[in-house]
Amino acid sequence: MNSGNNVKILVDTHAHLHMNQFDTDRDDVLKRASTLELVINVSTSLSDIDDTIKIANLCGNTFAAIGIHPHDSKDVGNDYLDIIQKKIDIQKRGKRIIAIGEIGLDYFRNMSPIDTQKKVFAEQLMLAQENDLPVILHIRDAYEDAYDILKTVGIPEKRGIVHSFSSDENWAKKFVKLGFKLGIGGPITYPKNDLLRSVVKIVGVENIVTETDCPYLPPQQYRGKRNEPIYVSYVVDTLNVIFECDISTIVFENALQLFGLTKIGGAGLR
Ligand SMILES: [Zn+2]
Repeated sequence: MNSGNNVKILVDTHAHLHMNQFDTDRDDVLKRASTLELVINVSTSLSDIDDTIKIANLCGNTFAAIGIHPHDSKDVGNDYLDIIQKKIDIQKRGKRIIAIGEIGLDYFRNMSPIDTQKKVFAEQLMLAQENDLPVILHIRDAYEDAYDILKTVGIPEKRGIVHSFSSDENWAKKFVKLGFKLGIGGPITYPKNDLLRSVVKIVGVENIVTETDCPYLPPQQYRGKRNEPIYVSYVVDTLNVIFECDISTIVFENALQLFGLTKIGGAGLR
C-alpha cells in the first residue's frame, strides 16, 4: 500500500465498518485500518448506532458519528432525538462520539418523502448545535435545499463535512464559505471525474478531508469490489498528483481540527 518505505499518514473520515459486508473478516479489516491515523465510523439509522459505537470503543484510532441518514428518516419515531441524545450522554466520558452523521438530503434515490427528509435533517442540525458537535452531511441532488436549511436552521458552530462531495465549483465554494470541509473519496480516482479533480484544486487542500465511505465507493483500482479504510491511500495518491505535493499531513490536521482531536505523543488521539 505504501510507496517505497514511507509510511503514509492516512485518515478515513467516513467508514461503515459495522456493516454486514465486513462480517466475514472484520478483524482483518480492523487490523489493517489500525494503521491509519484516524477513522470515523458513521451510523445511518437508529438500528446501527450501537454497532457503530462498539467499533469506536474497540479501536484506539476510531471514533463514532451517530445520526439518521436521509434514506432512513422515514423510519424514525417521535422519540428518535431522545434516543440519540441518550447515546451521546452515555458516551460522554469516553469521548468516542465526535459528530452527528450522516444526516442530510438525498433526492437521487428519494427513499424517504422529501418533507420527512427535511424535517429530520433540520432537527439533527439542532441536535448537533445543542451538543456542540460537528456534522457529517450526505447531500445528493439536493445541494440547494440543504444549503437553504443550513441557512434557516443555523449552521452548527463546529461546522462539519460535506461527505462524498459531488457537485460543481459553485456549490463547493458556497459550502466552503460556510466553513465546511469537502469529503473526498474513491470517486476522485475515476478516470471520467475531471470535474471533481478541478473542483478540489479550486477549493484548495485546506478545505478538504479524505474518506472512503467503505464498503461503498472503492477507488478505481478496486472498482466493483468492497472498499475498506486502507484504500484511502489511493485517494491520497490522486490528491498528491492534483496538488503536486504530499497533502497527507494537511488533511490529517484538517480532520483533527474539525473534530476537536489532539495527538497525544505517539499514543493516539484524544
Ligand atoms: Zn456513508
